[in-house]
Amino acid sequence: MEKVIIVRYCEIHLKGKNRGYFEKIFMMNLEKALVGIRHEIRKPSGRYIVENFDQTRTEEILEKLSRVFGTHTLSSAYKVPAELEMIYDTVKKIAPESGSFKVITNRANKSFPLNSMQLNAEIGGRLLQDFPNLTVDVHAPQHEICIDIRENGDALIFSGHIKGAGGMPVGTSGKGVLLLSGGIDSPVAGYMIAKRGMVLEALHFHSYPYTNMQAREKVEELARILSGYTGGMTLHVVSVTHIQEAIHKHCPAEMMITLLRRFMMRIAERLAEQVGGQCIITGESLGQVASQTIEGMTSSGSVVENLPILRPLVGFDKTEIIERAREIGTFETSIQPYEDCCTVFLPKHPLIRPKTEDVLRAEQKLDVEALLEEAMLSSETVRL
Ligand code: ATP
Ligand code: MG
Repeated sequence: MEKVIIVRYCEIHLKGKNRGYFEKIFMMNLEKALVGIRHEIRKPSGRYIVENFDQTRTEEILEKLSRVFGTHTLSSAYKVPAELEMIYDTVKKIAPESGSFKVITNRANKSFPLNSMQLNAEIGGRLLQDFPNLTVDVHAPQHEICIDIRENGDALIFSGHIKGAGGMPVGTSGKGVLLLSGGIDSPVAGYMIAKRGMVLEALHFHSYPYTNMQAREKVEELARILSGYTGGMTLHVVSVTHIQEAIHKHCPAEMMITLLRRFMMRIAERLAEQVGGQCIITGESLGQVASQTIEGMTSSGSVVENLPILRPLVGFDKTEIIERAREIGTFETSIQPYEDCCTVFLPKHPLIRPKTEDVLRAEQKLDVEALLEEAMLSSETVRL
């Protein structure tokens, strides 16, 4: 008996005239998620059917598809010819031993001899006879037995829906540059924006040799986990070693983070220009640490001339962010204890409310343009 997977999508339904465009991108993303696994995807109407795959890999395929943004729910179903005896034989296979149930029929093929209500009653009645420990509950059943009579003469039989990642297909909302540290927050920020359909180009700053290779590997691993949701990602790695050394040498110690942040933002904007990025995304959350005051964000944001800065976590508590990080699978990697460039030359008392005139005065001691050009030249690209 053949197994298929039904994929139902979310908000794409809402997109009116653009629907075809959204559906095409969603289909491409489903295909990408299954690269290397034999399968076929059809789109009969209002849903996607994955078939002709190696059935021993069903769980793996469900897992991969459930991560594709735009996926609302999935079901693993049996496909049989839409014929009453065949349908009932299959229902028996998935029927629970005990508890309450409800049969839900969806009949796209109106030439099937029984209508939905009649088929529900027929199958429900037989189940009650053959499984004495089952009861019917049409309002709050413990088990749902679903029968989908398709236009093409197939019946799909399944129980239950697996929850998908939700959101919109990646590629339908433009492209953004994600400032990806090795911390807990920025991977979650990236996940949230990718979930709204945006392609991410990740940008990581290191201060080698002050930071080590393990810190770099950790970030690559985080980008790899994120790319499991986005269908691939490019990570750009840029050295800020000389920038930090210059700040350390020429500027007041308490301004290290404030000034470094402004360099990070400038580099992000330049990278965005190169790769067609339309915004900058950070994992900042208001008041979480000294540099994330509104004054700190104003200071770092003010050097970005032409792009919006998205801070999806701005109103989140740390505990909420950690919860998300666990759900998306980045937490365990994020808490590995490797130094981030922000902890190099960390002052004892970082400026909490930097004043614009002080920042500008300190920055005058630096050759900002030369430092930026050098940093851009240090950029390495990793495709994940
Ligand atoms: P995270 O957990 O994301 O590291 P955090 O709470 O440690 O955040 P900060 O270190 O103040 O906060 O960084 C704020 C934001 O700046 C990060 O969320 C990230 O977007 C960006 N950022 C910080 N360090 C780096 C880095 N080394 N490379 C790229 N982006 C960075
Ligand atoms: Mg950090």
